[in-house]
Amino acid sequence: MQSDLVIKENELIDPSDYPEDQRSLVDDFNSRIRRLTGIITGIGKEYHTIWVINANTKKMYLYRSTGENTNRDAIELGLRFDNYDRFIEEYVDRCVVNSIENIQKDVKLDVIFSRIKDGELFSIDYMRLADDGNMSYHQMAFALAGQPGETENFILAFRDIDKSIRRHIADKRYLREQLDIVETLSRDYYNIFKINPKTGDVVILKLDGYVTKGMEGAGEKIYPYDVLYKQYVKDRVYSEDQEWMYDAISLDTINSKLADNSEYVSSYRVMDNGEVHYYQFTYILINANIPNSDMLAGFKNVDDIVASAKERQNLEILASTDIMTGILNRGSGERKVIDAMANDKAGMLCIMDVDKFKDTNDDYGHNVGDKVLRGIADVLKLTFRDEDIIFRLGGDEYAVYVMNMGDEEAGKTVMDRVFNEISKLDVPELAGSRICVSAGAAFFKKGDKRSFDELYKLADNGVYESKKVNGSAINFSL
Ligand code: GH3
Ligand code: MG
Repeated sequence: MQSDLVIKENELIDPSDYPEDQRSLVDDFNSRIRRLTGIITGIGKEYHTIWVINANTKKMYLYRSTGENTNRDAIELGLRFDNYDRFIEEYVDRCVVNSIENIQKDVKLDVIFSRIKDGELFSIDYMRLADDGNMSYHQMAFALAGQPGETENFILAFRDIDKSIRRHIADKRYLREQLDIVETLSRDYYNIFKINPKTGDVVILKLDGYVTKGMEGAGEKIYPYDVLYKQYVKDRVYSEDQEWMYDAISLDTINSKLADNSEYVSSYRVMDNGEVHYYQFTYILINANIPNSDMLAGFKNVDDIVASAKERQNLEILASTDIMTGILNRGSGERKVIDAMANDKAGMLCIMDVDKFKDTNDDYGHNVGDKVLRGIADVLKLTFRDEDIIFRLGGDEYAVYVMNMGDEEAGKTVMDRVFNEISKLDVPELAGSRICVSAGAAFFKKGDKRSFDELYKLADNGVYESKKVNGSAINFSL
């Protein structure tokens, strides 16, 4: 057989056409054809364009070219140049976008023959620039076309790998995002699970905390979310929070929460060795841009955070309270009244000042004076409603903003009750001497434009008027 012969797919030679002594050569030739046909059939399933090239003459023959994705440039060039070196050089130059120089080297015959082994493909991925300016990922592949060990003919095939490469890139990005989120969660969440939002398949990614019955630790094993979370709520969650938790972390609830928000976080209580602890769950989508993206769930103890929140709350209460009497202090009381007025809440601002309190201190001592001040605060707390704003202005002065009180008659009725209760204050050291206060009040009506300071002045004028009579009086200013 001549060495520049290009074998062709399916073109078997009939041995009977040849003399007996050449039969073995014919058989040999036919088996090469069969092998080539087999290779082309195999490659043809994936590659749209297939050439067979004679390595000696460098002649190229187009064996396959499916209609779609046909590399027309290649066909034209191939037919025109009829020479592998020129064909491939020009093709790379025209169509390959990325690192052309490298690819020019890789497609040289000696490189190809050093890389392809019998029965294997040597492939090169590249970005292909089409005439219309579109770029897409393509692949060219080389394979030997003859019998094992024979290098006379080789195959060059092309295929479009754009979709799979892009999917691969997306997958890699997805994986990276997933790793980032897991790493972030891992910093403070003990247990982390990956959950498929549709099937409810759970994979344990981290299990340093509580182990729900039936779990075996982080790994590939898949657990059903429905079973897992119900078991967890039943065994672990504080009884008062169980009913809420069954609903709060059901797959339906989580899916609907994560449809609107990228993260779903809440705290709940856990029962551990007879003690109640505060925990927090976080459900988060790995990639909100991917439909049905897996989500991650993290669980951690937040006792510290809750404790400091309680401390903060205590400090706030402390800052707004008059320590001696336990009612609001002037600052917070005034802020609340100003707030009520800003919200157009009608009411009566009443100011009280204890009569001759200096004498009480002087006659019975400061401690007894303090008891009286606390007793008056208690009377105010008992007389007025929770919604009313009771505060100590300082010294022996108090104020109340009585919600929805709009007329003098009602004002007088309630203040008479206050006067009466104060007069009956049970402070043994007083030895029967009665405590009186003088009061003044002003009304804030709906739509009223007066400021707190203006209202205060009016009420204070009332106190001044009341001081003129001998105790337990109220005067209204309009
Ligand atoms: P009047 O009602 O007529 O104004 O006479 P008054 O003696 O009550 O005079 P004023 O209200 O001006 O004085 C209030 C006194 O209350 C002055 C101060 O010694 C006393 N005082 C202020 N804060 C406290 C306190 O926290 N405890 C005690 N025991 N006394 C206080
Ligand atoms: Mg006084």
